[in-house]
Amino acid sequence: MSANRRDFIKFVVAGAVTAGCPIDLSLVAAQTGDAQKSHGADVDGEDNRICHQVRDGRVFSRPPASARHDVVIVGGGVSGLAAAYRLQHRDFLLLEKEPHWGGNAYGMEYEGNIYGTGSAFLTKDEYAYTFSKEIGLEMLPIDSSDASIIRGELVPDTWGDGLNKLPYPPPVRESFKKFKKEMLAIDVEKRSKEVYGKPFSDFLKGYPEELKLWWDNFGPSNWGATSEETTAGLAIEALQEMVEESRTDDRYTWPGGLGAITKKLADILLPKYKDHMQTGATTVAVVSEKEQVLVTYMLGGELKTVAAKAVIMATPKFITRHIVEGLPEKQSDAMHQIRYIPYPVVNLIFDKPVFNHGYDTWCPGSAFTDVVVADWVIRKQPGYQQKFNILSCYTPMKEDERGYLLNEIGARKIAANVLSDFQKLMPGLNVDPIEVHIYRRGHPLYMSTPGLYTQVQPLARQPLDRVFFANTDSEGPESTTNTGILAAQRAVKEVEARLAGKPAPKPKTVVG
Ligand SMILES: Cc1cc2nc3c(=O)[nH]c(=O)nc-3n(C[C@H](O)[C@H](O)[C@H](O)COP(=O)(O)OP(=O)(O)OC[C@H]3O[C@@H](n4cnc5c(N)ncnc54)[C@H](O)[C@@H]3O)c2cc1C
Repeated sequence: MSANRRDFIKFVVAGAVTAGCPIDLSLVAAQTGDAQKSHGADVDGEDNRICHQVRDGRVFSRPPASARHDVVIVGGGVSGLAAAYRLQHRDFLLLEKEPHWGGNAYGMEYEGNIYGTGSAFLTKDEYAYTFSKEIGLEMLPIDSSDASIIRGELVPDTWGDGLNKLPYPPPVRESFKKFKKEMLAIDVEKRSKEVYGKPFSDFLKGYPEELKLWWDNFGPSNWGATSEETTAGLAIEALQEMVEESRTDDRYTWPGGLGAITKKLADILLPKYKDHMQTGATTVAVVSEKEQVLVTYMLGGELKTVAAKAVIMATPKFITRHIVEGLPEKQSDAMHQIRYIPYPVVNLIFDKPVFNHGYDTWCPGSAFTDVVVADWVIRKQPGYQQKFNILSCYTPMKEDERGYLLNEIGARKIAANVLSDFQKLMPGLNVDPIEVHIYRRGHPLYMSTPGLYTQVQPLARQPLDRVFFANTDSEGPESTTNTGILAAQRAVKEVEARLAGKPAPKPKTVVG
């Protein structure tokens, strides 16, 4: 697309790069590439005064506690909201730094049409399915096995019948089939220690590069890592599930993805507990005392401290370890070992139908990994007419590319690359959208690296007397809304046991 044509399209940049406070210091200290050279360490669209002060070593003088609660929950993503939902019988306080609830499961709107900026779908076997029903959401089935676009051709049901139609030479097609057969034969549960400890690339050895290309596209979108850095167990299970999906798809979602769950939780809680839920509140310190925990947060430029009998940290661990005082060195190190990728989602908004071939379509070799049709699950509902065809392009990036998201020019460039690659994908797609929205996030998805699930996460989530750890990055093996909810439920149980003076319940989720 020529620069001139692009000039007529409106680009909108939203989202927060630094994800929390204190920010990941490496982000500002070690930006790389053009973004750093031309724009220094500014982060457009974010108020990072507090973060910069923490980064510069300022010790905040904590005011005395002005209120008392049973439980303070820090972080209003799905995990923090689910914890609040389960703690309605308690005097809780939920603190979120962003001006809205939802974290990485958050939907936005264009003229009343909802699109996703993160979390896309859940599966029926996940607890999140039962939970969604419990909070009153109508379950909308996806019912569409994933396609791929390869060499300009749409290959429906890639890992089912699609394997016979891959636009590759016959020996490459046969290799895909052989690989599938081999992976299906692995009993992941029986061999969990081995397969969760090994990189997935070990299992791709000897296969053609086209296969690796496909997985190095799929992996970053789902669990933040290419085959060399992916724990093999997770990828093998994903393939086994995909093959199953090609028979019966058990995935569910809503327009805008799993942001529907966080919206519903906020809609349930806010009318009843408005005074117990605070957005725009950045927690800067969590300090344990003998009988209570002091939580200090910045709200509207002022520091406030509250006292709690217990605290649930539903923030990601790279932030948590800076905020919670007194973590044992080993636990803090474990938290530090968890790696996160930058992951913007680019929404292309068309005022006419452009691409409605399937729910989620994989695009190896493009600036983005896959494209999701935002209103897929409601398109066939009686009376529904698609006014805008909104396509969510998932665009995971490498850790060392994070700096490009920090300012608007870098973010727009990423969005423009996504649009340009989308228009070249296959015939019929060279159409201009009316708007392009990029929602940027600096550290939203932890990488499912070998050993993370079996060794790192069990250590990272150990309770610290009255401080408990939720967030999806406590659970594994993959960053999901489901594990965010499960982490919340575990933390709530631990809180209840602690407040009742009982020993903490034994965790169940560790394998190997
Ligand atoms: C692009 C993308 C696609 C995804 N697709 C899927 C999918 O299809 N299915 C699926 O199940 N999962 C998916 N995920 C993963 C899923 O979105 C996350 O695992 C889930 O939303 C995590 O929720 P959480 O509450 O554990 O953490 P978060 O969403 O990270 O919530 C943490 C919250 O804490 C807040 N916070 C941080 N610091 C502070 C502070 N100092 N004080 C106060 N608040 C603070 C943050 O602003 C945030 O709201 C996807 C993720 C991304 C990024």
